[in-house]
Amino acid sequence: MNSKKIWLSSPHMGGNELKFIREAFDTNWVAPLGPNVEGFEKDLETYLGHQSHVAALSAGTAALHLALILTGVKKGDEVICQSMTFSASANPIAYLGATPVFVDSESKTWNICPEMLEKAIEDRMAKGKKPKAIVAVHLYGMPYQHDEIKALASRFEIPIIEDAAEALGSKYKGQNCGTLGDLSILSFNGNKIITTSGGGALVTKNRETKEKAIFLATQARDTAPHYQHSEIGYNYRMSNIVAGIGRGQMEVLDDRVKARRRNFDFYKSELKDQKNISLIEEPDDFFSNRWLSCILTESFERREEIRLKLQEQNIESRPLWKPMHLQPVFRNCPNYSNGTSEELFEKGLCLPSGSDLTPSDLNRIIETF
Ligand SMILES: *Cc1c(COP(=O)(O)O)cnc(C)c1O
Repeated sequence: MNSKKIWLSSPHMGGNELKFIREAFDTNWVAPLGPNVEGFEKDLETYLGHQSHVAALSAGTAALHLALILTGVKKGDEVICQSMTFSASANPIAYLGATPVFVDSESKTWNICPEMLEKAIEDRMAKGKKPKAIVAVHLYGMPYQHDEIKALASRFEIPIIEDAAEALGSKYKGQNCGTLGDLSILSFNGNKIITTSGGGALVTKNRETKEKAIFLATQARDTAPHYQHSEIGYNYRMSNIVAGIGRGQMEVLDDRVKARRRNFDFYKSELKDQKNISLIEEPDDFFSNRWLSCILTESFERREEIRLKLQEQNIESRPLWKPMHLQPVFRNCPNYSNGTSEELFEKGLCLPSGSDLTPSDLNRIIETF
């Protein structure tokens, strides 16, 4: 095995990141605030549009934690969460002593199923517990069925927390993912479509909520010359160094989306003659950043066969997210499942999807098939 390792999703710098970091050093803004933090927030606000206000934070997980706090989630509450997702969508619910209620996916987008969601809300309400929020996720960059989910959220008056960690650059009916929820979150972790090495953001609908988020993220200091606190605070602000990477990455975001979509198109055309392998299509008016290109095979055995063959060739691939309702840590949480996410987990595989994959990398991957 002498060929170079092909990773699932690698960081891909644009070139100007170091320039922004150098500016931070030259001006001694080596702190969790400064011009890069404000610049990065402005870049994101301009990109997202829809009058969004952005607070740059230390992680997407921190953004979800603050989103739940700002929504008023408290100990003993229930929060609906898409089951098919990364654990970071659900963990912050548990930080607050609240209970996640997991809802299964539909097969068109692999995201939260409107019918199951309706069933779950009605059942929780019949049990005397109205859910405090709905955490909906755009898995692998594919938008969830927003109109359907939003209609239910409005009917039952439950706020949506949009987990757009994997979906910066995706659009639903022309509107950017990251602006669809009552509150939305982004992630800039090392393997996301753009990265700051680690980081996240909370997207709000107004300036006051953004300011409240920054207040909580900087230890909840009251206005006073001394340190005074009337609320519990957190240390969740993004550093000015990290934000410099983000400013450089924003310059190349559109290129990164194009490259990831090109990977997907390559897999789709090269794998079309493979028996029983399929890739998920974009429904009309859905635009996915194709963060990860995933295939569905006919069985768990076939998926494992492909994964192990790729591994032999020094190529990283990964099963789809294991649903949260199957995770040992959440085994006692209520769940509303229809079998979709379990089947996806059994038969699905994420292929290398980095924006820096070369034609020869892609050919090496396809040859394995
Ligand atoms: C990456 C990710 C997060 C968490 O973001 P971090 O920045 O790693 O804390 C949350 N939800 C989903 C769906 C993710 O993929």
